Amino acid sequence: MSEEKVVIVGGGPAGLGAALMLAKRGWTDITVLEKRPSANYYEPDKSFSYQIDGRGQKLTDLLGLTTKLADLSVPNTDFYFTLIQKDGTRKTTKLPIADSQPKFYIF
Ligand SMILES: Cc1cc2nc3c(=O)[nH]c(=O)nc-3n(C[C@H](O)[C@H](O)[C@H](O)COP(=O)(O)OP(=O)(O)OC[C@H]3O[C@@H](n4cnc5c(N)ncnc54)[C@H](O)[C@@H]3O)c2cc1C
Repeated sequence: MSEEKVVIVGGGPAGLGAALMLAKRGWTDITVLEKRPSANYYEPDKSFSYQIDGRGQKLTDLLGLTTKLADLSVPNTDFYFTLIQKDGTRKTTKLPIADSQPKFYIF
């Protein structure tokens, strides 16, 4: 266990992932600085679904979180993007997915 202090600037996935990995390795004095007022701060121009792909699941596996997160989410293997024009016409495109492992969405 390290006696060193750790300060991580930014509480996004990279900052929180780093903090969780350090804690798992025995670091105890970890501070995450985040400029947003709170973790559940509502930003009306942002979407609140989050896809965790095979690469992200390596981290959630390491942290023992994959099963818990999968229970809270919707699994998916395909990803479609639909563009709706002002006149109501739609164009749907299947987006390529880099890995074949099933993903899940957190809402
Ligand atoms: C619309 C959209 C949808 C996306 N959907 C997905 C998805 O479904 N799945 C997926 O894997 N990825 C998705 N991404 C990509 C994903 O959001 C990024 O790859 C990821 O957020 C990058 O994480 P990060 O921690 O590096 O940076 P960020 O998420 O940008 O985190 C940085 C944090 O640092 C904080 N910060 C910045 N400056 C300071 C400061 N000076 N002091 C304190 N705090 C500070 C910011 O407020 C922020 O919270 C999406 C991105 C966008 C834009």
